[in-house]
Amino acid sequence: MNQIFEQLKKELDRVQALEMSLVLFGWDNATQAPKEAIENTAKAMGILSGEYYNFLINDKVKGLLKQLDQEKDLDAYEKAVLKEVKKSYEDLELIPAEEYQEYSELTSISQHVWEEAKEKNDFSIFAPTLNKIIEFQKKFADYALEKKGGFATRYDKLLNDYEEGFTTKELDEFFEQLKETIVPLVKMVVKKNDQIKKDYAYRTYPVEQQREFNRFLAEYIGFDFNKGVIAESVHPFTTNLHNKDVRITTAYLENLVESAMFSTIHEGGHALYEMGVDDAFTFSPVGGGSSMGMHESQSRLFENNIGRSRAFWEPVFPKLKELFKEQLQDVDFDTFMIGINKAEPSLIRTEADELTYCLHIMIRYEIEKQFMNEDLTMEEIKELWNQKYEEYLGVAPTNDTEGVLQDVHWSQGSIGYFPSYAIGNAVASQIYAHLKTVMPLEEHLRNGELQPIIDYLREHIHRFGKTKTMQQILKDMTGEGFNPIYYTEYLKEKYTAIYENL
Ligand code: ZN
Repeated sequence: MNQIFEQLKKELDRVQALEMSLVLFGWDNATQAPKEAIENTAKAMGILSGEYYNFLINDKVKGLLKQLDQEKDLDAYEKAVLKEVKKSYEDLELIPAEEYQEYSELTSISQHVWEEAKEKNDFSIFAPTLNKIIEFQKKFADYALEKKGGFATRYDKLLNDYEEGFTTKELDEFFEQLKETIVPLVKMVVKKNDQIKKDYAYRTYPVEQQREFNRFLAEYIGFDFNKGVIAESVHPFTTNLHNKDVRITTAYLENLVESAMFSTIHEGGHALYEMGVDDAFTFSPVGGGSSMGMHESQSRLFENNIGRSRAFWEPVFPKLKELFKEQLQDVDFDTFMIGINKAEPSLIRTEADELTYCLHIMIRYEIEKQFMNEDLTMEEIKELWNQKYEEYLGVAPTNDTEGVLQDVHWSQGSIGYFPSYAIGNAVASQIYAHLKTVMPLEEHLRNGELQPIIDYLREHIHRFGKTKTMQQILKDMTGEGFNPIYYTEYLKEKYTAIYENL
C-alpha cells in the first residue's frame, strides 16, 4: 500500500467508524427503538454527524489528498478511494460554508414537515419547505455549472451525483422508449384484468407463518444469516455496516401475503450485493455498491426477473402451499403465477407492479427536470403531478397524500435520485438476458440451485464494490454498456405471453 495512502486510510477508518455508528442508530430507530428514545437519540446523532464532518473535512485530510494527487504508484483500489473522497470534498467546497449550514438545518427538519403534511393530507404545509429545498438545489447546481462546468443543465449535475455519466439527453431517450413500450401494454392489460382471479392473495395469512416462510425465502436466495439479520419496519429497506453485517427489513401484512414475500426477495437482492463485496474494499468509501442504479438492478433482478418467473416458483410454490394449506387449497400453480404477475395502474409508486413501475418514475423525472431547469410554482408542481398520472396511468389522485406528497425523497433533498430506479430495472433485464447466455439459468432455478447465479454475480459485479462504475461493470461482463432494449423486450414478451392467453 502506498505510504501516504496508508495515512489517509487511518483517517478514513475513523470516518467509517463514525458512519457505522450513525447507520446503526438509523437502523435502530426504524426497527426497535422505543418511541420516546427519539429526542435523545437525535441529539447523539447530531453530535456524531458533526464529528463525522470534522473527521472528513479538515486540513490533514485535505493535505493528504493533495499529496496523493502527485503519486504515480496507486493501485485501482487506492485510486477509487481517492476519487470518492475527492468528489465529496469538491462538492462541499463549491458551496459557501454558511449556505451549507443553512441547508443542513433545513433538511434536518424538512422530513418532519413532510410527514406532518402527509398525515394531514395538506400539501400547503410542505410547499414552502419544498420551495426552499429546490431553491438551494438550484443554487448549488449553478455553482457546479459555473465553477466546474461539463454539465448541460442543472438537472444533469444532479443526475451525475447518483449515476455518473448519465445525462438528461440519454434519459429522455430512455424514458421515451419506455413510454412507447409500456403505455400500449398497460392499455391491453387493463382491458383483460377482470379475467384474473386473485382473491386468494387477500385471505388471512398469519404473520407468524409468514415470518417462517420469509426466513426460508431469504435463505433460499442466498442471504447468509451469519452475516445478516431480518427485522421488521413500516417501509422495508436494506442497510449495511460492512460486508459481514448487512441488515434487511420487511413488513408483514396479514391480508396481503405477497407484500412481504417480494420485499424480502427485493431487499435480499440488495443484501447479496453488499455481502459479496471483497474483504479488501469493505469498511472504506468504496465498500458499497457501484451506484444506486446498479444496486437497484440486483434487487430487481431477484424480485422480478428471477422472483416472478415460473422456473423460480416451481420448487418453491409447493412449500408455500404446504405452509398455507387452507388459504391456498383451491389455488393451482397457474393461478398463482398469473396472480403474482398481474399488472394494474395505480397511484402509489411503492405498491406499483413490474409493468407500471417505471411510469411512476417517468412522471417524477419529468417534473424534477422542469422545476430544476425552469421556474415552477409549488401549485404548478402539484397540478403537473395530477395531470401526468391521468395522462400516463389513467388514474387521478383525489388528495395530496396519494399525489404529490407520497414520496419521502424531495423532503430529504434527494432530487435526481428517482431515475436510478428505472435505470436499475433496465439493468436488471440486461443482466438477466446475459445470464441466460452464460448458464442454463432456468434449469438452475427449476432445480433450486441459486448458488451458481450468486457466484456469477459476485465474480462479475458484487466483489468490486465501488471500485468500478456501472458502465464499466456492464461492459466487462456483457461486452456492452447500458442498453435498455433488453428491458423493453423483456416487458413486451412477458406481458404479451401472460395476457394474450387469458
Ligand atoms: Zn431497492
